[in-house]
Amino acid sequence: MPASRAISQQILIVSAHPDDMEIGMGGTVAKLAESKAIITSVVVTDGGRASNPFAWTEKRMAEVRREEALRAARVLGVEQVLFFDEPDAADEINAPLVKQKLTELIARLRPTEVYTLHEQLDRHPAHRLVGRLVRESCVGSGHRPSVGLWAYEVWGLFTSWDRIEYIDASVAKKSLAIAEHRSQVATIPYGEGVLGLNRWRAVFADPKASAPGGVYAEVFLRVPLSSSLISALHRSRGNRGEQPNRRRRP
Ligand SMILES: [Zn+2]
Repeated sequence: MPASRAISQQILIVSAHPDDMEIGMGGTVAKLAESKAIITSVVVTDGGRASNPFAWTEKRMAEVRREEALRAARVLGVEQVLFFDEPDAADEINAPLVKQKLTELIARLRPTEVYTLHEQLDRHPAHRLVGRLVRESCVGSGHRPSVGLWAYEVWGLFTSWDRIEYIDASVAKKSLAIAEHRSQVATIPYGEGVLGLNRWRAVFADPKASAPGGVYAEVFLRVPLSSSLISALHRSRGNRGEQPNRRRRP
């Protein structure tokens, strides 16, 4: 590895499904890649039980989605994509194995920042599980990412956030990356849906601002990594007990 890259930011992004990262933070990913960050994306499930209007087998769907994820990663500038190939259902994911793999990966990569799904606010059970496993793996690895552990939003909107990233310069890449998930956007317009949200984020970011800080934005919540902060978070947010979303969603 060239010396100039050795000092670059190492970024780890862990998602439940092949298109979560693109939908939730594709603009920020492209921004980070352009800033020379080295990005590793982990996709925990094979996405085989996704929206499937083609009557493909689960195996075929998983194969197609892997190719789609690789194409989208190239659009965004992601260095490598690791597929854990777990079954596409929260209750079938081998949580101890995923945690072991993530812990080893974090210890090896020593990322400066880590991103994942939100373990409470996301309405999709597999997303919540992955969010929890990433946090526990960070703690278990003994490595504290210097820039932090961050949650991005997909199936659950944040009512407040700790960080906003304007993505005007990378929103085109985000749209192209989502469009690479052809098997999914064939029936559900994820790109349009999330761009509406990203537009809203930018326009309504700050009630005191005289003008928006940008045209499109993605927001993130910081995930506490110290045990006292985590217990405080659980006490304040409680168990929201939301019903699992339909399984066939990104
Ligand atoms: Zn998903």
